Amino acid sequence: MQQYLLQDIQFLEGVGPKRADLLKQELNINTVEDLITYYPYRYVDRSRFHKISEVTSDMPHIQIRGQITGYASIGKGKGKRLVADFADGTGHLQLVWFRGAKWIPESYPIQKELIVFGKPTVYNRKINLVHPEMEDPAKKHAVSSKLQAIYSTTEKLKDHYLTSKAISKLLANLIKGLPAKFEESLPAWLLEKLNLVNLDGAMRQIHFPDTSAQYNKAELRLKFEELFYIQLNILQGKTERNKRFSGNVFETVGDNFNTFYKDHLPFELTAAQKRVMKEIRKDMGSGRQMNRLLQGDVGSGKTLVALMSMLIAMDNGFQACIMAPTEILAQQHFNSIGRFMEGMDVQVMLLTGSIKKADREPIHQGLLDGSVQILIGTHALIEDVVQFNNLGLVVIDEQHRFGVAQRARLWKKADVLPHVLVMTATPIPRTLAMTLYGDLDVSVIDELPPGRKPIITRHSYDSKRLQVFGFLKKQIATGRQAYIVYPLIQESEFMDYKDLEDGYESISRAFPPPEYAVSVVHGKMKPEEKEISMKHFVAGRTHIMVATTVIEVGVDVPNSTIMIIESAERFGLSQMHQLRGRVGRGTDQSYCILMTGYKISEEGRKRIDTMVRTNDGFEIAEVDLKLRGPGDIEGTQQSGVPFNLKIAHLGKDGQILQLARDTAENIIAEDPDLRLEKNYIFTKHIKKGNPNRISWGSIS
Ligand code: ADP
Ligand code: MG
Repeated sequence: MQQYLLQDIQFLEGVGPKRADLLKQELNINTVEDLITYYPYRYVDRSRFHKISEVTSDMPHIQIRGQITGYASIGKGKGKRLVADFADGTGHLQLVWFRGAKWIPESYPIQKELIVFGKPTVYNRKINLVHPEMEDPAKKHAVSSKLQAIYSTTEKLKDHYLTSKAISKLLANLIKGLPAKFEESLPAWLLEKLNLVNLDGAMRQIHFPDTSAQYNKAELRLKFEELFYIQLNILQGKTERNKRFSGNVFETVGDNFNTFYKDHLPFELTAAQKRVMKEIRKDMGSGRQMNRLLQGDVGSGKTLVALMSMLIAMDNGFQACIMAPTEILAQQHFNSIGRFMEGMDVQVMLLTGSIKKADREPIHQGLLDGSVQILIGTHALIEDVVQFNNLGLVVIDEQHRFGVAQRARLWKKADVLPHVLVMTATPIPRTLAMTLYGDLDVSVIDELPPGRKPIITRHSYDSKRLQVFGFLKKQIATGRQAYIVYPLIQESEFMDYKDLEDGYESISRAFPPPEYAVSVVHGKMKPEEKEISMKHFVAGRTHIMVATTVIEVGVDVPNSTIMIIESAERFGLSQMHQLRGRVGRGTDQSYCILMTGYKISEEGRKRIDTMVRTNDGFEIAEVDLKLRGPGDIEGTQQSGVPFNLKIAHLGKDGQILQLARDTAENIIAEDPDLRLEKNYIFTKHIKKGNPNRISWGSIS
């Protein structure tokens, strides 16, 4: 069986080398197993035939039984096409082929009984089926079913007649040739408990179901299995790690923390901050190594939580560090933590790429002898020359810029692994977090400090630009600053998106010196130039910052209260939300204005409406996940989604994911090493080289 499934796809009946190449290129189907796990995305009722007299152009794909009454070749050049008149006794419609139709009249002679399948459209007031799928009712599928599975294909595949129906035929051949049943990958007790169908049935019925109940059950079983093994893997890796790596026990909350909390903290913590502090303290005192993800919308006060955690580390005789993704952010942390620590006897140092060699020496020395207690920096922190005396806590800010591998390098810096707190302002929906960061425990700050005014968000068309500029001028006159953000620089003849350079020019014209000063920052600038430009803006010497998305992460200029996003329809939801988070950081009312032309896609409009409707990062993340699917969620590309889902959808299958997670948790709780007889199948399945196996163990 295994041999059959691992065969190169070209040896399957009906494929051959040419089609195999296409399947490999277009759909990444290389083996027989790849094909059987190429699941359909919907089904059409094959037992139902429509009458031509009732067909309208707003119907989805339909099936009709009838005969071709004549062929004609019409049009010239690109418009050249083959048209067949098709009749079923209730009326006529046209079948149309634009390319490669030479063989059609021969294969489907006039008056022969046929089944055609396609999406009705209207052309010249006639109903058309363009490039219909055709079937001889006398010739039956090797495996047939009442419902027909529909597979997504590409234009190129269709050009070579690898239509959905053709794929279905290949699958029929595949199933016909199976030498045995699919080997079950879940134990019988679990199938029974959750009322799931067996694998063999599911694999056949997902492709060839007779009823919708059948494919629903098959789908549930396969989705569950896919998500379950990911969760089992994650949880098992986590228990392994907990066993192998004990953590430093931070028993005491001492002078550093208490002095700060009682005498220096300028405000009351929010309830959410207090709750999260409790979670962190519990972790750090537990004797196992903390691996915690701290999620909180921009401005929710994560830095303060990080600082207090670091003070606890110091109270227990350990050093701590914060790693930020950019110099500007590291510098900002250094400034704000420096301010919080004023009047306290705590050594805080900054280490970034731009710090001169000569100045690094004493920092390195201070880290080694333990006199530097808190180190703040960029990825310069993970260089091998940086050695700590006694590193107890690592805080990683804006986590998606750091891959799992970089995290691992930090872990190597101490004998006993330091506790790790990962902070992110990219709200990740729970279902995704559970999978993507399933090895981390998650804390959420779901509350902003009091007194913040919610940002007012508006959508404005390009034609109203003068009004927007007028508003901007009024705000600048009261002392405020503004960001204007453009999509990344890329000239394209076909798209009339204003790129940043044009934008900068027109902004400079609309806001001329000496009254106005404009800064610009984009990705093609040298880091030093960027720094300088940023500094002017941060210091309030310029009024407007024209930028690409490089300002997306973390920059804090409380006086900047206006965020204008140009060509907003081109931005992803999370990205817009991140950008909007750059304003609303002070006590003044802030505004976000989304500029677009009149032409916006349906999805683009949904994104913009969502932004206008809500400031809630988690709600936005959920909508984003539904619209785009998890592979595209911002940030996940950089860290690399460590698995590839074939059937489950993290945005839509939240309930199944929860079931998979709970089930895996229960199993691991009862049998952490999966040694019990009844769980034997899990180990076997994982060993078999489950493609979704994530090797968390080798990371730590
Ligand atoms: P984040 O990193 O989550 O985006 P910050 O930690 O930068 O947020 O906090 C944003 C601002 O709010 C900072 O100026 C910080 O000092 C302030 N802040 C944090 N916690 C509180 C609180 N409980 N009450 C009032 N202000 C707070
Ligand atoms: Mg921050």
